Amino acid sequence: MTDVVVIGAGVAGIQAALDIAGHGVHVHLVEREPTIGGHMAQLDKTFPTNDCSMCILSPKMVDVVRHPDITIHTCAEVDRVEGEAGNFLVTIKKHPRYVDESTCTGCGDCIQICPVEIYNRFDAGVGVRKAIYKPHSQAIPDIVIKDPEHCIECGLCYDACGPGSIRKKDEETSLTVEAASIVITTGYTVFDARTKTPFGYLTLPDVITSLELERMINASGPTGGHVKRMSDGAAPKSIVFIQCVGSRDMTIDRPYCSCVCCMQALKNAMLIKEKSPETEVIICYMDIRAYGKGYEEYFERVKSLGVRFLRGMPSDILPDRGGMILQVEDSETSELHVLHPDLVVLSVGIGPSDASAALVEKLGVAREETGFIRPVNDAMDTAATLRPGIYVAGTATAPRDIPDSVASAESAAMRAWIDAKKKRP
Ligand code: SF4
Ligand code: SF4
Ligand code: SF4
Repeated sequence: MTDVVVIGAGVAGIQAALDIAGHGVHVHLVEREPTIGGHMAQLDKTFPTNDCSMCILSPKMVDVVRHPDITIHTCAEVDRVEGEAGNFLVTIKKHPRYVDESTCTGCGDCIQICPVEIYNRFDAGVGVRKAIYKPHSQAIPDIVIKDPEHCIECGLCYDACGPGSIRKKDEETSLTVEAASIVITTGYTVFDARTKTPFGYLTLPDVITSLELERMINASGPTGGHVKRMSDGAAPKSIVFIQCVGSRDMTIDRPYCSCVCCMQALKNAMLIKEKSPETEVIICYMDIRAYGKGYEEYFERVKSLGVRFLRGMPSDILPDRGGMILQVEDSETSELHVLHPDLVVLSVGIGPSDASAALVEKLGVAREETGFIRPVNDAMDTAATLRPGIYVAGTATAPRDIPDSVASAESAAMRAWIDAKKKRP
């Protein structure tokens, strides 16, 4: 028994799987979504290099699907774990896809003909998808999934599908695999901005989240790379970012810093200014946390482009004569600023994966008060959990940016690989 199970196939899980399999140990990569890639696939550029996010991630996704020592289980979750380090039995539950994975070619004919359009979670609500769909154009595996909740059973896709891959009925299945060790890389959940009701998210149409802005800025996103007001589709002339939404906020029991949202706002402000220098961009903040290699220099570059920084937070956003009004007291000058932006971007924080509570119970590992998975030691051993043989990496254990997530995945992968090698005859 020398396999390893990696739970979660975002960038951390992908990196862990590639590292372990690259050293001759078979990996079962378990992902609850219909595609691997995680949140990184939704992002436009990465900081501090402004490299295209998918240009980094996509080759890794392809490496995973081509690797002979990686088995991908999508639409799947770990249901049960028995045994101990070196001898785990992991039961994987596979949710129905309503499409035969072995015969679907990913041609997309069914998507073209499907008449149902609904909210697209991948585009953070900015775009729509069909009732039979691919999560995005570079999804892996490159096949479709049918959404039984919204399918009206019109039957058009069944006729359009040459290989007859679409199923009217499908069932949950399960399989049990043996594993020497387990790596948890279940990632994070984006803060639900509706919780901060004074900011009017989903009430005021031109209040959007940082994730929605990412999808708009992305050239392959639903607006073709154009930032638009949701109310009328016009290009905004003034944009206000509000930082720390859902982070560093005791009123909603989220005291921690989400680590990535300052740099994400800086990056998106830079992209907006580079494309349309005449757009006024103001960032309302408590502190700017630009702590990584090259991040401070990045911050300086953003300032030099004319982005304004206002140290203060509005208490609310109100409708005003067809637009919006917000008031911010600059804590450095005590000056009160009254702003009338065309678009407000809420820099939403990141929290523990919504799957982590149930998963923690199944795996017998511990959670922090914040809900993130607890490592053995935050200073000296961030890869091991309190249960021997189970490791954790990426944002499953704390908010982290992409370089830190990848580094932590490599560390956890090495520990899991050593356990597997010990079991070799
Ligand atoms: Fe093409 Fe059929 Fe697969 Fe749809 S289900 S992508 S029509 S092969
Ligand atoms: Fe779309 Fe369902 Fe009709 Fe297929 S049967 S085309 S998925 S609505
Ligand atoms: Fe606030 Fe910046 Fe920390 Fe995000 S990274 S929680 S915006 S201080």
